[in-house]
Amino acid sequence: MTMASMEELIRESQRYLMNTYARFPVVIEKGEGVRVWDTEGKEYLDFVAGIAVNNLGHCHPKVVGAIKEQAEKLIHISNLYHIEPQIRLAKLLCQRSFAKKAFFCNSGAEANEAAIKLARKYAKERWSSDRYEIITTYNSFHGRTLGSLAATGQEKYQHGFEPLIPGFKYVPYNDLRAMERAVDAHTAAILVEPIQGEGGVYVPGDDYLPGIRRLCDEAGALFILDEIQTGMGRTGKLFAYQHWGASPDIMTLAKGLGGGLPIGAMLAREEVAEHFTPGSHGSTFGGTPFVTAVAFAALSALLEENLPERAVKMGGYLMAKLEELKGRYPFVKEIRGKGLLVAAELEADAKALVRRCLEKGLLLNAVSDKALRFMPPLIVTEADVDRAITMLDEVFQEMPK
Ligand SMILES: *Cc1c(COP(=O)(O)O)cnc(C)c1O
Repeated sequence: MTMASMEELIRESQRYLMNTYARFPVVIEKGEGVRVWDTEGKEYLDFVAGIAVNNLGHCHPKVVGAIKEQAEKLIHISNLYHIEPQIRLAKLLCQRSFAKKAFFCNSGAEANEAAIKLARKYAKERWSSDRYEIITTYNSFHGRTLGSLAATGQEKYQHGFEPLIPGFKYVPYNDLRAMERAVDAHTAAILVEPIQGEGGVYVPGDDYLPGIRRLCDEAGALFILDEIQTGMGRTGKLFAYQHWGASPDIMTLAKGLGGGLPIGAMLAREEVAEHFTPGSHGSTFGGTPFVTAVAFAALSALLEENLPERAVKMGGYLMAKLEELKGRYPFVKEIRGKGLLVAAELEADAKALVRRCLEKGLLLNAVSDKALRFMPPLIVTEADVDRAITMLDEVFQEMPK
């Protein structure tokens, strides 16, 4: 199908698409497992995985099979009717988590919008009309729609889009004292990521999530966890909160949930979920038979193949290899993360290093100016990690000493 050269495609991309992404100068055309190929046939090892979307790797046979099967059966039907794959997916997610009910939408930001709306409605109906505030953290990322943008405690995302919707307050991450001071009679909910992803892969102390659970219980506030990046096995448990044994009241999912298809979910405890009634919220495409059948197949494959456990093992292997590099290169300052959500903090230009890795055939992401993020598909092997580390080592060797 591709007749135009990669260069021509990139020119047209710049001509016809809004300039919202700083894109690398390649057009990726094909993928299989941990590998992708550009339109000129060059192979890359994919340690970005669609930013934690392709947890099963590219074109997993069970995902492709479910796509083909459901495409021939039913693609879309309105939520005016009950939808079998949607029911199956909701049941499986509830069986595997604290939650009792699910709402489906199409993205992470939308899942957080749904959570914010449910928390406000719950707090007003359960407590009082002036209880609407949501406390989030600095350096967080919750999405780019106006509600989720207001929840995102980073000016760089908010700048230019003010006025932000009111009712949000920020405190430093991993600081229980600051969180405690921020909670008051207006607090409807506390919303945090179990590990800050876009903020740079920051894992909180072991007392952080249990501490927030306790604060919420004392104040009658809801505990909302944004597991959009950390969920679906990425950190070594199906959901990251399971590392710390502190369940939230509401959890949002997206990214890895759909095996590559766009889907978001907002899950909640029964008593909280009850505050959504017909007309409260909705989405035309939320939970279509097509997307939910594929997400069900993706989640089933993730569980059958024990991929959360694999994330523990391969994450440990990757971090040990990165620690070795740190021992040899003084500009590598810190390796941090959990499972296969890992970052390397550098005293070097991470973006330039990412460009060199791309030329070598390794896709990586600079999560900040000074930090590389590693989030390969959970099916990654030791040989894949070895290859990635070899390429990274070669790129590090080129660095001025
Ligand atoms: C990616 C992400 C979002 C936003 O998801 P979209 O699907 O891009 O709207 C929200 N929260 C976290 C933690 C994310 O990583």
